[in-house]
Amino acid sequence: MQLAGKRAIVTGSNSGIGLGVARELARAGAEVVINSFSDTPEDHQIAADIASETGASVTYIQADMSKPDDCRALIQKAGGCDILVNNAGIQHVARIEEFPMDKWDAIIAINLSSAFHTTAAALPGMYAKGWGRVVNIASAHGLTASPYKSAYIAAKHGVVGLSKTTALEAAGKGVTCNAVCPGYVLTPIVEKQIPDQMKTHNMDRETVIKEVMLSRQPSGEFATVEQIGGTTVFLCSDAAAQITGTTISVDGGWTAL
Ligand code: NAD
Repeated sequence: MQLAGKRAIVTGSNSGIGLGVARELARAGAEVVINSFSDTPEDHQIAADIASETGASVTYIQADMSKPDDCRALIQKAGGCDILVNNAGIQHVARIEEFPMDKWDAIIAINLSSAFHTTAAALPGMYAKGWGRVVNIASAHGLTASPYKSAYIAAKHGVVGLSKTTALEAAGKGVTCNAVCPGYVLTPIVEKQIPDQMKTHNMDRETVIKEVMLSRQPSGEFATVEQIGGTTVFLCSDAAAQITGTTISVDGGWTAL
C-alpha cells in the first residue's frame, strides 16, 4: 500500500471534502485521524466505518480549530503525523459593510490560523523523520475573488501564502507543502450558501447553481470529494516529492478563464 506506515491527520473531516480526503488516504493505506469540533457517537462511527471499509486504522479526535491550543493539542494527541491535511473551513456570505465582525474573526481563525497552528506543531516531527506532507485545502477563491465573501477569500489567499512559506522553510528536509484549490464541490458548506446566494442575487436554487456557482466552472460540473482526495493522495506520493510551494486547481477550468 502506497501510504502504509504513514499517519495522516485531516482537520474538519467528519463531513464533505475532509471526509472524502480521509477515506482516500485510508484506501491508500495510511493510518488516519478524523477531526471536528464536536464529539458525538456519530463522529466516532464515521471513523469506525472508514476503518472497516478500508482495513486502515482510523480514529476520531475532537479539537476545535477556532482555538489555537486545540489545534496544537490535536497534533500532540495523535502522536504527531507524517501527513497533515488542513481542511476545516466555514463560510459566510454578506456585503463587506454588513459583514458580522464575529463571522470575520471565526473564518480567519478556522480557515487560516488553524493551519498555521497545526503546521507549527507538526513540522518538528516531520523534520525529525526526514519525510512529511502538508496539504492545505485552499480554494479557487485562494486565487481569484468573488463579491460578498471577503473573509473567506482573504483567508484562502492567506492559506496559499502560508503554503508557499511552509514549503520554503521545509525545502531540503523531505517535507513538502502545497495548496489544493477546488472549484465548487457539492458539500454541506455549499448547500448552506445556496439560500444566501438566492437572497443576495434574487434567484431560485437552480439558477443560483447554474448562473452563479457553476458559471465560473467551464466544465459545468461540480468537482467531487473523491477527486480532491485523489489529488491529496497524489501529493503524498513519491512522484510528488519535488512538487512544493505551489497550488493544484481542481476547478473544471475556473482559473483558466
Ligand atoms: P463542510 O461544511 O462539509 O465541511 C467543513 C468541515 O469543517 C466539517 O467537517 C466541519 O465539522 C469542520 N469544521 C467546521 N468548523 C470547525 C472547527 N471549529 N473545528 C474543527 N472542524 C471544524 O464543507 P466542505 O465543502 O467539505 O469544506 C471543506 C474545506 O474545503 C473548507 O476549507 C472549504 O473552504 C474548502 N473548499 C470547499 C469547496 C466546496 O465547493 N465545497 C470549494 C473550495 C474549497
